[in-house]
Amino acid sequence: MAATASPTTANSNSNSVSSAMDDPDSLKTRVCIIGNGPAAYTAAVYAAKAELKPILFEGCNADDNAPDHLTISSNIAPGGQLTTAPGVEDFPGFPEGILGIELDDRLRAQSIRFGTEIFTEKVTYADFSVNPFKVFTASRTVLADSVIVATGAVMKRLSFPGSDEGQNGFWNRGISACAVRDGAAPMFLDKPLAVVGGGDSAMEAADFLTKYGSKVYIIHRRDALRASKVMQSRVLNNPKIEVLWNTVVRKAYGANNGETRALEGLELQNVVSQETSDLKVSGLFLAIGQEPSTEFLGGQLELDPDGYILTKPGTTVTSVRGVFAAGYAQDKKYRQAVTAAGSGCMAAFDAEQYLQEMETEKENSLLMSSQPKKARRPRKRRRGAGTMKR
Ligand code: NAP
Repeated sequence: MAATASPTTANSNSNSVSSAMDDPDSLKTRVCIIGNGPAAYTAAVYAAKAELKPILFEGCNADDNAPDHLTISSNIAPGGQLTTAPGVEDFPGFPEGILGIELDDRLRAQSIRFGTEIFTEKVTYADFSVNPFKVFTASRTVLADSVIVATGAVMKRLSFPGSDEGQNGFWNRGISACAVRDGAAPMFLDKPLAVVGGGDSAMEAADFLTKYGSKVYIIHRRDALRASKVMQSRVLNNPKIEVLWNTVVRKAYGANNGETRALEGLELQNVVSQETSDLKVSGLFLAIGQEPSTEFLGGQLELDPDGYILTKPGTTVTSVRGVFAAGYAQDKKYRQAVTAAGSGCMAAFDAEQYLQEMETEKENSLLMSSQPKKARRPRKRRRGAGTMKR
């Protein structure tokens, strides 16, 4: 999706955004939210309700360099991973289930209703070294008193000959990380397809793809699935799905006609018997888990070894005072739409509290500086005050 120059907002005359004196493309806000999906939009709802007038950047993670003529997307598009879920059956309040993309749209609309200013622009960098923090996109800079990072996670990719977007690769030419977004493409219609993975995402993708493909193979590296029982039984009872146990992909091949090249098959290997085999498929969908989208932070926030943002337990407080993290970017354990939304709400409350503390500190320091020197009695600094306890 192309970046929009003007924001989406409930009130276009909102005074939440004031042009900075020196740079007409620079904006100011009390809370800048980076991300899309349940965590970001929920943070925006609560921040807007608290009259903090948030600015939200819902930059897409899609491959910006992918040529327009490609029939399938290469990554996750604006709206977060929820847009890749065919049906969300466990989000409270929707007894019949709801399409992931519809739930996402609803959350987004709710945030706009309360006055969130949304820009569909990708954040390229953020500077958390001084407050106000700076958040940069290709076309503007935001000066923010506080920031909520809710950038989510992107699908992991596999690397084997033919897996990439290079001259001999089939990425976007039959290989994808998103069944929901790409599965209905004409190139997959009534063709055999394959999914790699043994978790809920793989089950969901395989089940969804049976609507389009003639047959769906699940290629799983072990002899047991990681997915929830209910998802497993749905897949194992579907006559159009076959699981290839203890199997990995060694190579992808196909018609290599330059721009019109297309995947035709896979070389597989059984990791127990070491035997190799050939599988004719027109589509391969990777569903092997996610990795957090935290690289753009450039190491400014403390991360765990897998790149997830570390937060103080029970809060969304990060290693930088005034910066908060919510959703999949900081949660490697629960990873559900509802927990992401919950942490977005927490982040808005934490940001509001921080801003109030800032106000109080500012008032105190003004009070101190207006008193004659003799009368000033600086309060004793408590041991450890001002440092984040982790
Ligand atoms: P996941 O649970 O981490 O599963 C990843 C799967 O990919 C595992 O089966 C893993 O194999 C396999 N895998 C990982 N690396 C691989 C590699 N290099 N080569 C081959 N296979 C590889 O990830 P997920 O399925 O994306 O789910 C993530 C979270 O989202 C989970 O908490 C899940 O419950 C949730 N989720 C929920 C729903 C839903 O409720 N509707 C839908 C989707 C996801 P091993 O099993 O051998 O490790």
